[in-house]
Amino acid sequence: MDFRYTPEEEAFRQEFRAWLAPHLHAHRAQWGEDEDEFTQHPSSPASLAWHKRLYDGGWVGLQWPKEYGGRGATQMQQVIYTEESMRLGAPPEVNGMGINMVGPMLMHYGTAEQRTTHLRKILSADDIWCQGFSEPGSGSDLASLSTRAVQDGDDYVVSGSKIWTSNAHNAQWCLLLARTDPEVPKHKGITCFLLDMQTPGITIRPLLQMSGDAEFNQVFFDQVRIPKRRILGQLNEGWRVAISTLSHERGGMRQFMRLHRMVHMVEDLARERGVSKDGVMRQQLAQLHIDTEVQRLTVLRALTRQLRGAPPGPEGSIQKLCFSRVYMRAAQVAEQTLGPYSQLDKGAKHAVADGHWTFQSLFARRYGIAGGTDQIQLNIIGERQLGLPK
Ligand SMILES: Cc1cc2nc3c(=O)[nH]c(=O)nc-3n(C[C@H](O)[C@H](O)[C@H](O)COP(=O)(O)OP(=O)(O)OC[C@H]3O[C@@H](n4cnc5c(N)ncnc54)[C@H](O)[C@@H]3O)c2cc1C
Repeated sequence: MDFRYTPEEEAFRQEFRAWLAPHLHAHRAQWGEDEDEFTQHPSSPASLAWHKRLYDGGWVGLQWPKEYGGRGATQMQQVIYTEESMRLGAPPEVNGMGINMVGPMLMHYGTAEQRTTHLRKILSADDIWCQGFSEPGSGSDLASLSTRAVQDGDDYVVSGSKIWTSNAHNAQWCLLLARTDPEVPKHKGITCFLLDMQTPGITIRPLLQMSGDAEFNQVFFDQVRIPKRRILGQLNEGWRVAISTLSHERGGMRQFMRLHRMVHMVEDLARERGVSKDGVMRQQLAQLHIDTEVQRLTVLRALTRQLRGAPPGPEGSIQKLCFSRVYMRAAQVAEQTLGPYSQLDKGAKHAVADGHWTFQSLFARRYGIAGGTDQIQLNIIGERQLGLPK
């Protein structure tokens, strides 16, 4: 790996740095630093306000081509952007699903009409997107999904149900997978649709999580009509779109940014509570620090492969697995730091940071499930990388 930056890359860093500091300062002066920075709810006024600032400054969709409203930035510029955001603890944009997953899919598989209709509104977050993949009976084994789409004239009529659909209640659009041919092997009869969430026949039921949050939902489809022109890619070729979408979901640098921020907050907490010099605590903090650095290097190793045009290596699954485990451990170190106070929820009289750490330790568990569970990552590493038997 070459860790040096070119003069052009350093110039890009200075440009973003000069923009970021005053804008973040102004944002914080108005909104403070709050929980929504973790959940990134697109319905949160603070998150949306920060997104709009980034958008107006031309800092959303960094790697999107300029013709679609992006900045046409390189991979290295994306890395620099992330480094600078991390340095100041800036929150990410909202509509991550739209920007990082749906947008690239539209550019790759979409028709000219689909791109014109959707891309700009994804960047501006005027259209929030959700991902309708998982079903009550199909998660890890996604290809077994059973929501049906049956052709009727110029439409497809959808019946069935999706679950864990993040932000469905805020979304204008959904990237939906449905079975269009039940007679062929399971991977071959799936089609990907662009679904307008205002279409009649859609019912959204929120699912309350143990953190008290309700960011995801079960979504029911009762004879929901989708025009044929809203198929993304080819009929019965939705599995291809699904796999490409998921490869964008396991996005290394963004996850690293979250982990880095979390670990720094835990270090600050230990210092504030006067336990950072305790022998056992020092070991744990040092280990978190080391693991975060290893994560950074793994992300950069994957990036180097990509820049050299090599096929994806084992880094994606290793990084996803390490991310979820180290994040969880960071939450546990915070719990130990606070002792019994870590159990006091938002609103409780003696809750530390208004229950932030209680929320974090429950919230952290999501990362071992979303985007492919830890066990599935272990399977991939074991079977595909190490050549172990199934
Ligand atoms: C916070 C969060 C947000 C999400 N957002 C979305 C979203 O927006 N859209 C969407 O479509 N989905 C979303 N999901 C769903 C997520 O993709 C699924 O939960 C995940 O793929 C696991 O599927 P499942 O819940 O059906 O569990 P299952 O697949 O039923 O797995 C249950 C358990 O069995 C284990 N297991 C399953 N198969 C194997 C195997 N072959 N070998 C070893 N162990 C195995 C799993 O690791 C897990 O521990 C979200 C999930 C979370 C937690």
